[in-house]
Amino acid sequence: MTTTEATATEAQTTDAQTAVPPLADKRVLLAAPRGYCAGVDRAVVAVEKALDLYGPPVYVRKQIVHNKHVVETLEARGAVFVDETDQVPEGALVIFSAHGVAPSVHEAAAGRGLRTIDATCPLVTKVHKEAVRFAADDHDILLIGHAGHEEVEGTAGEAPDHIQLVDGPGQADGVVVRDPSKVVWLSQTTLSVDETMETVARLRTRFPLLQNPPSDDICYATQNRQVAVKKIARDAELVVVVGSSNSSNSVRLVEVALEHGADRAHRVDNARELDETWLDGVTTVGVTSGASVPELLVREVLAWLAERGYGDVEEVVTAEEDLLFSLPKELRRDLKAARSARQGGGEPETDDTDDAADDAPDGDED
Ligand code: SF4
Repeated sequence: MTTTEATATEAQTTDAQTAVPPLADKRVLLAAPRGYCAGVDRAVVAVEKALDLYGPPVYVRKQIVHNKHVVETLEARGAVFVDETDQVPEGALVIFSAHGVAPSVHEAAAGRGLRTIDATCPLVTKVHKEAVRFAADDHDILLIGHAGHEEVEGTAGEAPDHIQLVDGPGQADGVVVRDPSKVVWLSQTTLSVDETMETVARLRTRFPLLQNPPSDDICYATQNRQVAVKKIARDAELVVVVGSSNSSNSVRLVEVALEHGADRAHRVDNARELDETWLDGVTTVGVTSGASVPELLVREVLAWLAERGYGDVEEVVTAEEDLLFSLPKELRRDLKAARSARQGGGEPETDDTDDAADDAPDGDED
């Protein structure tokens, strides 16, 4: 069901549906996994530790993660969010966001003598590396993703002469490639799995030799949250997704909930955006949150629901996650040097982590 259809459904709500369910029947199904993923956690902690270590201001190119609450909280501590590196004073420190940047951004920062910390999620970096490799092999790369999204701009910037964007199944028919036997598709990490497969199927009818990415580009966190919301949407008349409007994976969760059984689904940044009328006739409310959302915001939504009789909360677990990423290596190096200086000076400890460790998960991927 599309958002438009959901609106139509709301307009057709009958008197019977608006009857208030008995208190005892009201419940919440809370999706798990939800909220912070490993890449978001790493990026937010990187800014926090940079503020502690270097002191404010710490410049951050773009929103470090797509969540209003996180950005405002870091701003209050002294982070300064800018659109481009030319807004950062020469020689200052700038952090690149979890969504990744094109090589041209690294070059622009170097040209201004900026110190950089790259908080790109390692799972986005993986897609960048795939793009570089297939471009070096002179493939046409069909990058499935949303036009204008920072992650897509960063990935496309790795090989602009070889990459063309395919923004959904509707664009598959217009794709032109040089050699149909050397075509591969890659994707943004935060897409709807089902819609991406639809786009790939359309592309494959035109290019039967279309190659798949070496491994899933849609990341474990996006996939796990979509599986979890599908499960609760089947039994919920209303699904509330906590997440910001520019959070791709949060917006996808609303779509997935509507497509898998929820009568209504709404995205809210926080509990203050909830609307009592959404509860009319609702017995079961599903709750989840996007990968950039702190759990505090979910707790506030649950408290708001509890005040209205939905205090019975059942967590529906579809996967366990224990993935952790190391902090960016530039930050690890400076943190070690600071620790060493505090412990009495001398040479800083050697950074015993290599580049591979930056890209390698520290735990299992679900
Ligand atoms: S949603 Fe996926 S790709 Fe994006 S930061 Fe989280 S783990 Fe990384």
